[in-house]
Formats: sequence, structure tokens, C-alpha cells
Amino acid sequence: MVGRQKSVENNTHIPKGIIMITLNNISRSFIGDEVETVAIDDMSLTIKKGEFLSILGPSGCGKSTLLNVLGMLDHIDQGQFTFLKTNVGQSTESQRAQLRKQHIGFIFQSFNLIDELTVEQNIELPLYYHKVAKAERKRLVDEVLHRVDIAHRRNHLPAKLSGGQQQRVAIARAIVTQPDLILADEPTGNLDSKNSIQIMELLQQLNQEGSTIVMVTHAPEHVNYGTRVIELLDGNICKDNQISSQIELTTAEVSCA
Ligand code: ADP
Ligand code: MG
Repeated sequence: MVGRQKSVENNTHIPKGIIMITLNNISRSFIGDEVETVAIDDMSLTIKKGEFLSILGPSGCGKSTLLNVLGMLDHIDQGQFTFLKTNVGQSTESQRAQLRKQHIGFIFQSFNLIDELTVEQNIELPLYYHKVAKAERKRLVDEVLHRVDIAHRRNHLPAKLSGGQQQRVAIARAIVTQPDLILADEPTGNLDSKNSIQIMELLQQLNQEGSTIVMVTHAPEHVNYGTRVIELLDGNICKDNQISSQIELTTAEVSCA
């Protein structure tokens, strides 16, 4: 495994402990033919730089919707979402695209790799969008290929890889731009326990090196890799607990009752 050097242009160096995300009384509903589903119901949450926040909760409680809102892939209907001092609700689509590009890396349960591109090409893709020069692209891709231990499969297509290997490629793609925030929606959902542990250790290492991580998980034991856990119920936070004293947090225990 190779350590990371900050080098992607435009990347910011946000000090640990400062507030990265503030959600003030946000709501998000989906209106179907006959029923309205409230996916997020008047939720407030603050996330600081350096946290590794796990999100637990039963199916349908709003975990993915929350992650999509944080990643600006979905909008809110009410409340205020502030990302690094930008009021996201009042930003333009191009400002949001810029924030996403500059600060956020996504990891999905289903990997979402491009089938026709090799491992190396999949990982290199975000660097094109960042307009990183060819030699630097090669250096960064090499670095993450080794980091996630998949360099020996660099010329393979995703279909030729195991699930654990595909998820490592997806993580490499998410971190190659050295994002400040990694959003992961059930990143071990399709993996066996051995591969899950490898992925969790990798995420923990990235967090210890400074990446802020927000991860939805089905596995309560995985919260121990993080610094804080929230539990959702019916679109709101019913528990908020710190896992360790790695960083100073002012989290409150709240109750659903
Ligand atoms: P979780 O990830 O916790 O399983 P989701 O955030 O995916 O939950 O969904 C929360 C609720 O919102 C569920 O009732 C779900 O059916 C509904 N929902 C999510 N996305 C949509 C959508 N695009 N259209 C309609 N309903 C949706
Ligand atoms: Mg989900």
C-alpha cells in the first residue's frame, strides 16, 4: 500500500474539525401516483471534517436519500443544506457540479464501473474531468492501483474481476481525485466477510489520513471502523453516538420516542 500525496489541482486543504456539512430541518418527499413518501422528515445534522460517520437503520428509512442529498445528486424540499459555507439550495447546477467535482467521491454498493473500460481506464476517468495532464494522470492512477492492491489487474475489464476486486476498483476511482468527502452507500453490501473487512480497513485508513467519510451500512459491526454512528428511523435521526475519541465532537444523544 502506498501513502497519498496531495497533488490534484484545485484540491483544498480543509483543516480537521471544521464544519463541513450542516443540515437544518431538511425534508425530502417523493410524490407518487397516489401516495406521498416522506423519505427525510425534518432532519438536522452537522458533519465535521475528519469524521467517519456510519448511518444505520431499517430498509426504507431514508439512508440512501440522505446520502444522495449530501452528494448533491438529489435536492431537498424544505430546510437548509450548507456544504463548506455554500447554501446548496440557492446554488446553481453548475456550482453544485463544481462542488461535487472538487470535494466528493462516491462509492456505491453495486460498484457502478463502466464495463467497456479496463480497471485502469475506469480509475483514470475522473481525472479527465479534472483536466489533469497525462503524466500526472498516470502517476495518480499507479498510486491508487497499488494502494487498493489491484495493480496486477490493471488491464482487465471489470467483468473479469471478483466482487471484492471490483469494489476496490470503485474505491480507487472515488479516491483518485483525493476528495475531501467520501460518500459510500453500503460499500460492502455485495461482499463476503473477508472482502468486507479489507474494504472497511481501507476506508478507515483513508479516514485516518484525513478524508471525511459518510457510509451507509447494514452491518452494525462495521460502525467500529468509524468515529460516529447515527441511526435513522422514518426519515429522522433517532440515535447519534460517538465511537471513539479520535476527534472532538459535540454529538447529542437524541431519542426517537
Ligand atoms: P434506505 O436507503 O434507507 O433503504 P431510501 O432512502 O432509499 O431508504 O428510501 C426512503 C423512502 O423513500 C422509501 O420509502 C423509498 O421507497 C422512498 N423513495 C426513495 N427514492 C424514491 C424515488 N426515487 N421515488 C419514489 N420513492 C422513493
Ligand atoms: Mg438504500
